[in-house]
Amino acid sequence: MCGIVGYIGNKKASPILINGLLRLEYRGYDSAGIATMENDKIKLMKNKGRVNNLYKLDGIDSLVGTIGIAHTRWATHGKPSKENSHPHVDNSNSFAVVHNGIIENYHELKNFLVEKGYKFVSATDTEVIPNLIHYYFMQDKIDDNKKILRAVKNTCSDLKGSYAIEILSVYNKDKMIVVRKDSPLVIGKGNGENYISSDIPAILSYTKDFYLLDDNEIVELSRNDVKFYNQDLKEIQKAIKSIEWNALSAEKDGYEDFMLKEIYEQPRAIRETIGAKLDNGTIEIEDLDFSKDYLKDINKIYIVACGTAMHAGLASKYTFEKICKIPIEVDIASEFRYRDPLIDEKTLCIYISQSGETADTIAALKLAKTKGAKTLAISNVIGSSITREADYSIYTHAGPEIAVASTKAYTSQVVLLNILAMYFAEKLERVEKDIIKNLKSDILNLPSKIEETLKDTNQIYEFAKKVYKEKDMFFLGRGTDYAVSLEGSLKLKEISYIHSEAYASGELKHGPIALIENGVTVIATMTNKKLLEKSISNVQEVVTRGAKVLAVTSEDIKNDGISEIIKIPKTNPLISPILSVIPMQLFSYYISKEKGLDVDKPRNLAKSVTVE
Ligand code: GLU
Repeated sequence: MCGIVGYIGNKKASPILINGLLRLEYRGYDSAGIATMENDKIKLMKNKGRVNNLYKLDGIDSLVGTIGIAHTRWATHGKPSKENSHPHVDNSNSFAVVHNGIIENYHELKNFLVEKGYKFVSATDTEVIPNLIHYYFMQDKIDDNKKILRAVKNTCSDLKGSYAIEILSVYNKDKMIVVRKDSPLVIGKGNGENYISSDIPAILSYTKDFYLLDDNEIVELSRNDVKFYNQDLKEIQKAIKSIEWNALSAEKDGYEDFMLKEIYEQPRAIRETIGAKLDNGTIEIEDLDFSKDYLKDINKIYIVACGTAMHAGLASKYTFEKICKIPIEVDIASEFRYRDPLIDEKTLCIYISQSGETADTIAALKLAKTKGAKTLAISNVIGSSITREADYSIYTHAGPEIAVASTKAYTSQVVLLNILAMYFAEKLERVEKDIIKNLKSDILNLPSKIEETLKDTNQIYEFAKKVYKEKDMFFLGRGTDYAVSLEGSLKLKEISYIHSEAYASGELKHGPIALIENGVTVIATMTNKKLLEKSISNVQEVVTRGAKVLAVTSEDIKNDGISEIIKIPKTNPLISPILSVIPMQLFSYYISKEKGLDVDKPRNLAKSVTVE
């Protein structure tokens, strides 16, 4: 999820590696480390905290090796600490590895290796990789120049999940091996030297010539050569691409803004968040062991959060109600903490915070603890304050989110909450098994449906260009379409500074319709077939009064005065916000761009609200 850098050449590797890591600092990380080949031995240097801290480590200056690997970590398994930082080595110190991504079946692999006598010193998923390579290397009796490649290939075929990996080995001290699957990795070609990185900006100052790796390609690098192999270790040819980006656009992967990049990262963030949770017969969520008896006794669930995270709670409440049959209340943390909520030891309180540092949410969690309730935190940052306070913690794996306005963290939170609801529902057995089974497959199909939604955004862009000068807008929807309307409206306020209100469509006639007049913009979301007729009637009420309507729908609806119909793929209405929010994110983004605003850093807002 964070950064990888590698170097093989004739220069001292460590400054190149650390310099590369520094260029990836803007993304956020929790620890950093490097390994270089020193007199035929692997030397590790790593630490928690800033990349610059590496310079303070004893002995860093004495590293003279000209081959090395480096990493900034965004923890997914095991808290940020020196032991959990990368690189990781096998028990015999023969293979050093840095890894971006998640090994979903690491428990299974770890058990296998422990049985074979391997010992583990970290809590990471990554540590299985160097040990598994070592295991296969030792098993292989053929002593040819492809022995390490075979060990890497065999290891990769055991790994489930996502990875970009660099491998240094004392058995082949003038070479380096890299491989990737579902996690980016590029190779920069130099003269008598080669660079590796997860992100182009880290090495853009050294070369403009890149090989972009595809999934499952294994690469063997030496100083003067780069050899590419497919999964069967057959050599393949790859073309060099010349990258003309400047450093800034490289940080954003060629996107104009981090927010846009993060909108497009949503399929991957959701795949990572789902991980292996739905792979087996029953749902498994790491570190959760709620018993059926405990769940049966729960009298109420509170979901407490602020801003977008609170909207993720609202969007998920329908699933908890429908499949767990437990009363659920979604509350704003700053309200919850100062009233006297009815909580006892039979209440489960779920707290959501992307950063895990949101002051109001942490205070609200502490309050529930004093009343004896069980607390569960949902965060994107392992080891963050909220996860240290809560009885249980589970994680979204959206990766670092840099834009202040949240996009991929929101959709990942909604996905995780829905999986949590299914996890409870499977134990509670209050609804037919098929309902959960169908929801599971709908969740698994989400990433490709988001990809489809992101394919053509022109209609949204054109509509945004028509309305960007407006002062007010309205968002309407029913059920989960209402929940997502609240989030759409918040996004618009945050980055375009346009005032907007979200209403449950049925509320229209109880007041807000008085505000609808000729030319007012209304974003109407209609994804629930059962509620479609009613929603269409509400849209007609505003169309008749002259509103310009952008409809977001998965149904075939008639145009009937609607200005623009954005068609999104069909899915279960319980999880439709994960798809219908995408056009809203893009709509706000395009409006903000048309207005010439700073999309990533909107005025008066901070990414992590650590004050009250
Ligand atoms: N899953 C690995 C860990 O937690 C790698 C995390 C990353 O991509 O930075 O150490």
